Amino acid sequence: DGEMQMVRIQAGSETRVLRAPVIVAAHGSWEPGPLPSQIGKTNRPSDLLGFKAHFTGSSLAPDLMPLLVFPGGYGGMVLADHGRLSISCCIRRDMLARLRKQPNHQSHLSAADAVSRHLMESCRGVRDALESAHADGAWLAAGPIRPGIRSCYERDIFRVGNAAGESHPVVAEGISMALQSGWLLASELACAPDGRAGREAAGRRYEAAWKKLFSTRLHAAAAIAGIALHPGSATLMPAIVRNFPQALTLGAQLSGKTKPVPGFV
Ligand SMILES: Cc1cc2nc3c(=O)[nH]c(=O)nc-3n(C[C@H](O)[C@H](O)[C@H](O)COP(=O)(O)OP(=O)(O)OC[C@H]3O[C@@H](n4cnc5c(N)ncnc54)[C@H](O)[C@@H]3O)c2cc1C
Repeated sequence: DGEMQMVRIQAGSETRVLRAPVIVAAHGSWEPGPLPSQIGKTNRPSDLLGFKAHFTGSSLAPDLMPLLVFPGGYGGMVLADHGRLSISCCIRRDMLARLRKQPNHQSHLSAADAVSRHLMESCRGVRDALESAHADGAWLAAGPIRPGIRSCYERDIFRVGNAAGESHPVVAEGISMALQSGWLLASELACAPDGRAGREAAGRRYEAAWKKLFSTRLHAAAAIAGIALHPGSATLMPAIVRNFPQALTLGAQLSGKTKPVPGFV
């Protein structure tokens, strides 16, 4: 009604209508749905599907976070909570389909088996780290990922996290960006006057602040992902780091790892 917003929540046969001064879409970008802020499905060979698994008993050094490059994708490993190794990656849809086909078999490999086998065969670092490790839970999957800069405020709906814009996970900044975009929006809404005009002004300021804080890291992540996905990346990446080690510091700066959030001390 101009002052208040309404949203209908549906769960099974139950429906509830909520009224609130603002609506914030925080539903990410990987699940299609009927909300006006959700983005449509894609099905392209170049789509990147995300996978993640945990292992116990790995031999990865605790201060190492290696970037993995392999045919058709990229990923990373890190020692996470309780000494568990977390490995995650993105792989092209067409490459995954190829890997799942088994010669002389009617059936396909599961996506998880195909990805894990491909990582072990392609990356010596993964083989070494997981040599005597055990899977802790099943492989998780998501996607396709939808990297890009979207609208921060449209049709009177604010967006945060991946709903507003998404970085290639190659720079591991998505969770920080999701939290920081929530902080930026809250800072703008805290001083916005009531009503639609106030929301529109807050939307413009939030969008400008979002772009200032995140645009560079999204472009940097896209460039790094482009190199990682290049067929020659397994030789190109080590050559860049060997001959130009400052590239690591520059990469950390461009991907926003050293950038403070305005107003957050
Ligand atoms: C393989 C991979 C590895 C990654 N590694 C890292 C990393 O190491 N570090 C890092 O910072 N980032 C990483 N990221 C990125 C990070 O996961 C995302 O950027 C981050 O999760 C985005 O947060 P979000 O809250 O916007 O969305 P999400 O985390 O996707 O959360 C959105 C939530 O909304 C729910 N939802 C969807 N639709 C509706 C609806 N209609 N109603 C109610 N709820 C709904 C979803 O189920 C989900 O729970 C990685 C991503 C991938 C794919």
